[in-house]
Amino acid sequence: MSNVDPRWPPPGSGPEQLSARPRRPAWVYLVVVAVALTLVATLLLPLGLAAVWRRVAPGLDGGVLPGTAPSDRSAVDGSRGVGDRYYPDAGNGGYDVTRYRIGVSFDPRTEVLSGTTTISARSLQSLHSFFLDLRLNITEVTVDGQDAGLAKDGDANWRITPATPVEAGSDFTVEVAYDGQPGDLTDADGGHPWSRSGEEWLVSGEPESAAWWFPSNDHPSDPALMDISIRVPRGLQAVSVGRLESADSASEADWDTWHWVSRQPMATYLTFAAIGSFTLRQGVVDGLPYVYAVTDQLSADDRRTAFTNLETSAAKVRVLAGLFGPYPFTELGGIAVADPELPFDGLEAQTRPVYKARSLINPDYADELVTHELAHMWFGDNVTVRQWDDIFDSEAYASWAAWAWAERNGGPTAQSELLRIFGRARDARDFWRVTMIDPGRRNLFTTVYVRGPMTLQALRNVMGDEAFTRLNTEWAQDPGLRSLEDWMAKAQSLTPTDLQPFFQAWIYGTTAPAQTAANGLA
Ligand SMILES: [Zn+2]
Repeated sequence: MSNVDPRWPPPGSGPEQLSARPRRPAWVYLVVVAVALTLVATLLLPLGLAAVWRRVAPGLDGGVLPGTAPSDRSAVDGSRGVGDRYYPDAGNGGYDVTRYRIGVSFDPRTEVLSGTTTISARSLQSLHSFFLDLRLNITEVTVDGQDAGLAKDGDANWRITPATPVEAGSDFTVEVAYDGQPGDLTDADGGHPWSRSGEEWLVSGEPESAAWWFPSNDHPSDPALMDISIRVPRGLQAVSVGRLESADSASEADWDTWHWVSRQPMATYLTFAAIGSFTLRQGVVDGLPYVYAVTDQLSADDRRTAFTNLETSAAKVRVLAGLFGPYPFTELGGIAVADPELPFDGLEAQTRPVYKARSLINPDYADELVTHELAHMWFGDNVTVRQWDDIFDSEAYASWAAWAWAERNGGPTAQSELLRIFGRARDARDFWRVTMIDPGRRNLFTTVYVRGPMTLQALRNVMGDEAFTRLNTEWAQDPGLRSLEDWMAKAQSLTPTDLQPFFQAWIYGTTAPAQTAANGLA
């Protein structure tokens, strides 16, 4: 994601911070950030980040609810929540999803979304019951074709009880029928991943958005294949992720069904759906099929600019592939959406980032924005955060990549960016109090955009270009879930230099790193 989500509450008014990250000295996460600093705001604003400073609250235990007594001896109740410290309700335990087949219909007159999603999954335990995440209303559910028990538990959690327990290690299929008005629903922090701008509707958001349109194991630690069909009145477009297989099933006179398929697994928050009047441009570039889409709500001039900027994606991907190895996916694209109130400038939807049109056509910001979102295809999408507190793995790289792209295209060097920003941030005490190892839920999307790329550039200075490039490439080319601890271990494995003092200063430290060679600053 680019930009900071301004919908989040001011210090102290939101939910409590959750349990502390393991293996870490207590003082790191018990530090309370006092107030917004004007200095920090002025530091962030030139980077296009409308930062709102937030307090880091001390830890409380999160955890998952204990299951009810199973009806047979070996079967258990899958946990509600996958164990994320910041979002304990997110995702579910006991199974891994391999594929979602989403079939939804949207009626703009009533703004009701209805449909059926078929989830193919593998059980990790013998399951007496398990949870799915969805904020809409489930009307019917089957497991392997048999009617299953259904009980809502909280705003977005449904307990599914199969007629017979699912055996451990077995493949099973859950078919869920549901409906609702997603525009009426807010997330845990009061946000609206479902938004409307005139006759255009969008569901897209981080850290959650899937629960507004399909049932899922809604956590980045369970990526799966996506097969998405969206039925809309004839004349509207429905844009999503992956390859456009067809845009009209031709079976209905008044409705079109848009069918999109991903060929690589993706985290649930990396999907999106946009419904409205869009102009699409399709083709193949560098062997990659692409679809770019721009809202028809823009003027002709702005539409042209939006397409011009979207079409820089292929050249940017070539530069990024030079830095991080081959592009990891089989489709390319981007969409510019109308909503001027969107809480982000860009979101790294897999194969097709979602851009706020107003930000995409900003000549001072477009290159940085597009490069940032495309770099996420390697960092955040191909390599996914294990938990939300691993956000460094995603946002630090996407932000550093924009520096590196500028360095190769006549802009300032990444080193000059590091020195410029460090010079301004050095004395901003509150800026450094938000660590990379445990930024806290409310600071998940704040300092990482600045301290993150600074950390990477400083590490480049310490490791040297060759080892740093090897780290980035080997990391990005190995798809899967990884933590910030994994990243530190990987970096250490590629250099004889002891990186512990560096990590202490840049990842764990709560004050500005000393300007030493060991910290990459001398
Ligand atoms: Zn980002």
